[in-house]
Amino acid sequence: MPETKKDSGAECGIYLHIPFCVLKCRYCDFLSAPAAEETKEDYVRVLLQEIKEKAPAFQNRTVTSVFFGGGTPSILKAGAISNLMDQIRTGFAVSDDAEITIECNPGTLTREKLAIYKGCGINRLSMGVQSADNAVLKMLGRIHTYEAFLESFELARKAGFKNINLDIISGLPLQKEGDYEKSLKKLLRLRPEHLSVYSLLIEEGTEFYRLYGEDAKIRENGGKPQFLPEEEAERRMVHRTAALLAESGYQQYEISNFARKGRESRHNLGYWRRSDYLGLGLGAASLVDNHRFHNTRALDDYLKYEFSPQEEEVIDKKGQMEETMFLGLREIRGVEKAEFYRRFGVSMRNVYGKVIDEMSADGLLMETEQNVCLSTRGLDVANYVMAAFLLD
Ligand code: SF4
Repeated sequence: MPETKKDSGAECGIYLHIPFCVLKCRYCDFLSAPAAEETKEDYVRVLLQEIKEKAPAFQNRTVTSVFFGGGTPSILKAGAISNLMDQIRTGFAVSDDAEITIECNPGTLTREKLAIYKGCGINRLSMGVQSADNAVLKMLGRIHTYEAFLESFELARKAGFKNINLDIISGLPLQKEGDYEKSLKKLLRLRPEHLSVYSLLIEEGTEFYRLYGEDAKIRENGGKPQFLPEEEAERRMVHRTAALLAESGYQQYEISNFARKGRESRHNLGYWRRSDYLGLGLGAASLVDNHRFHNTRALDDYLKYEFSPQEEEVIDKKGQMEETMFLGLREIRGVEKAEFYRRFGVSMRNVYGKVIDEMSADGLLMETEQNVCLSTRGLDVANYVMAAFLLD
């Protein structure tokens, strides 16, 4: 891990990975798996030690966001989460208004857990609901029904959580556009503060890959898949999502993220703006003073207190410029020219004038005096546009 040279007052986020789930969902390739209670307890012990050992290097930082992700962090006993939060506060200077999020899955939340989360300062919940349609939830291999989610959501509101995100997936096998819209509308009636809506990606190594891998290849090549929606239908779902959410008072602030005013995720904005963050726990990635590294992804090694940085990479100025553009373009406001100049001492146009002109001429980018951002058409082919910002 690099020695942090930041002056007092520098900010950073903290991510804690909890790699356990009740069951593995059929589409999921995250670093997560079911585990015995004893393994979870050992894991928390190691994680507490990792926090203790790594915190001193961050003495001068103010932590503005903490994110418990997974996996299913809410699978742990609530006491474990509050112990982890205590250790974070002991080791780091957490700002009074820090955004502190925990990912929870319906079926793992209780009134008692929510009260303990509240008591240790957690102020944002991110709930993986994925769909309001029970047939879809079953097909995804989720452990909960819509009714179970509803119960968890209501418990969370009663416990006083006023900032809740819902994760939703579109473009699912056999999903009809009308059914997707119905499900989305049902979830919108709950008036969550934030929604993350992702199109399904068929990832290698998942059960879905075995079932629908061929279909995914056909879709990628513009053919007519058998089970997955065709690319045009999938795009229509994405457009309909944006329109419905805009009508319902949400602002799209990132390709897949929508929020009520002031409820954008501070932690995730940090990723797209290349702010520093320290990842703790199995496989967790970090960006600190332009060093990228991650922890071991082998649970056995981690449980032997192996949490030294792996594959540390120093991002040079060229890499920093590339990342600034392709991560920044994920935000709807795009990349600010003044910020680019402040960071690199050179104007964005000097470095990227040609690609900005070409992409703008194709209607994929929009440029103003202040910033450069994806156009509506550019949003549909965001990966293609972003790739053009890689420097030779
Ligand atoms: S609950 Fe989330 S992390 Fe766990 S298996 Fe399902 S999708 Fe993956």
